Amino acid sequence: MTLPAKLSGAPRRERVPGVECLFLPQSESIELYASRSKSGHPKTESVVGYLEGFRKERRLLIVLFVIAGLVSLYFAGVGSKLMGSALLHALPPFGVALALFSVLIAIEVYRSMSQKLINLYGVHAMVRHQNRVDPLTGALSRVRFLETYRETLAKHSKRGSVALVVFDVDHFKHLNDSFGHPAGDQVLEFCVQAAQSSFHDTTIGRLGGDEFALFIAHDEEISDSYLASACDAFLAKLREGLFLSGRRFGVSASIGIAMSPRDDTSLQVLMSYADMALYQSKRTGRARWTVFAPDLLGDVRHERFLERELRAAILLKQLSVHYQPIVDQDGKLNSLEALVRWDHPVRGRISPDSFIPIAEKSSLIHDLGLSVLAQVCRDLPSLPDVPVNVNVSARQFRLGDFQRDYMGVLNKYSVDASRIVLEITESFSLETSERFIGQITDLREAGFRIALDDFGLGYSEFNQLRQLPFDIIKIDKSYIQNIGLDRVTDVFVNAVVQVAVHLDRSVVAEGIEGPDDRIRAAAAGCRLFQGYHFLAPSPAAEIARIYCSADHGQHGCCAPGHAEVA
Ligand SMILES: [Mg+2]
Repeated sequence: MTLPAKLSGAPRRERVPGVECLFLPQSESIELYASRSKSGHPKTESVVGYLEGFRKERRLLIVLFVIAGLVSLYFAGVGSKLMGSALLHALPPFGVALALFSVLIAIEVYRSMSQKLINLYGVHAMVRHQNRVDPLTGALSRVRFLETYRETLAKHSKRGSVALVVFDVDHFKHLNDSFGHPAGDQVLEFCVQAAQSSFHDTTIGRLGGDEFALFIAHDEEISDSYLASACDAFLAKLREGLFLSGRRFGVSASIGIAMSPRDDTSLQVLMSYADMALYQSKRTGRARWTVFAPDLLGDVRHERFLERELRAAILLKQLSVHYQPIVDQDGKLNSLEALVRWDHPVRGRISPDSFIPIAEKSSLIHDLGLSVLAQVCRDLPSLPDVPVNVNVSARQFRLGDFQRDYMGVLNKYSVDASRIVLEITESFSLETSERFIGQITDLREAGFRIALDDFGLGYSEFNQLRQLPFDIIKIDKSYIQNIGLDRVTDVFVNAVVQVAVHLDRSVVAEGIEGPDDRIRAAAAGCRLFQGYHFLAPSPAAEIARIYCSADHGQHGCCAPGHAEVA
């Protein structure tokens, strides 16, 4: 980014009689330096300190002159007594004259120093103003803009929203090099005018060079459509251009937008988010605007962002639970799987595939599991009287006292553990340690049934089927959907079914999306089925409407018509 010569030059000198002042236009803070030395080696200091020192010196000088006057009067009086008649008449008038002279000098020094002080105050005020407003474009200086933006964020922290829009002129260096700095300056002025007329009730600041920022504060949520139309109007005005050297010259800018409190409430974070959005605009072709979204963050920052939001969503009970039926070969409802849904108030629905892996990396997965279980317990009275499967990450068994926490939730809602099936999600290798097997055994003894979820995915081992005390195997949909199409899949599914039959376990075929999937899964020996072919995950009320209606009766009622395909 190239600074226009006008602002990137050396510190400017301001002449004040008797004092030489310098100020630095690019300084972050308001800085004015005053030199008081005549030796050629100027001593410089902050003007605020200089003014204070100047005032002290002025007071000191006056005191010294007054003392000198009093001493003169005193000696005149004493001398006239001690030295006899010869000096009796001479000294008093001399002492009085000396005293008067001292006072006159003091007045003159005071007047002169006061004038310098007034001049310095004037320069200081001018510099302060110039440091608050960019003299070229009339936009606020960076320092002043950030001060104003910070105050506005604080004011709207509890109500309304503040949109931060940062933009810079595309190819400004090329423009400066080709047409010269005066043309560059005109373009910057033009951009600020275009921004002022496109974004109403806005405050614009120059962050440096060709980079500007503005903010819009409303008492209500600022809609994306409002920002979109303002940005489009701004870009259109820039395209219309200005006259440079007698011909019209179109301009474009890249824009990035961040919103408070939607994206964050910290000035630094919002500035960096808007900056990321601006660079996304540059990456995708310039002359456009981008609203910040978390996927602009790097993987780690994205995860942190989602983790923080998810933590808040759990606390605020913003997560909901949907249910997907598991039916038997006659289409009768066997059980329901509880699936968490996160409808973010601003970002819409966030896929579990995005947030479950992030929760699994922290203790949040346990809080999430407990939150879902509590919601299931609240929904149970309105659901068909069948077991409800809740997903559990194997990692939860290493976090806290799993059984105590889960039983605590069930006791709170007076729910029997026999209503709950724990689907242990196999997102990483299940350990077959004695401790883990002991935990599973204890849970079964407490009344839970255990399902091995997504079997076949990732780290599945037949060894687990033999060693782990589970009740149900759920074969991953990637296998079910390839039955009959891939010989290895056929062998794998048949082997799992054979082992399950041998161990007296149930097998659920996941991911049944059409009648063919169901027929092939049944042919492979599966007797329980789950998938969109029967019903998409649905809210408890919808499940109740379908399965608890007068037509279907209570628990054990038939699945919807298309599930009757045998
Ligand atoms: Mg599951």
